[in-house]
Amino acid sequence: MVKIVDLETKTEYEVDLKSNGENKQICPKCSESRKEKNKKLKCFSFNKQLNVGYCNHCTTRFAGKNDFKPTEKVVYKKPIWKTNTNLSDKALRWFEQR
Ligand SMILES: [Zn+2]
Repeated sequence: MVKIVDLETKTEYEVDLKSNGENKQICPKCSESRKEKNKKLKCFSFNKQLNVGYCNHCTTRFAGKNDFKPTEKVVYKKPIWKTNTNLSDKALRWFEQR
């Protein structure tokens, strides 16, 4: 299981990521509350390489937590997880393509 964070609400969810690339699956946030026939729709996609995810239904953006590694070396302080600030250009472009 991998911990991911809703970038807006900072809510944490746990998802199972099987692929190292794109993981299309049900959304940890909205699928539970969707209509019965839509509960199994894979509206959520998480890209493990970029460590970001997006849901087409609730339009929530997520970022992975456990696997998070800062791209730049931090010399004076330990790397601290920060939402919103550490998305790479590649990750942002991935969001724009949604
Ligand atoms: Zn959703």
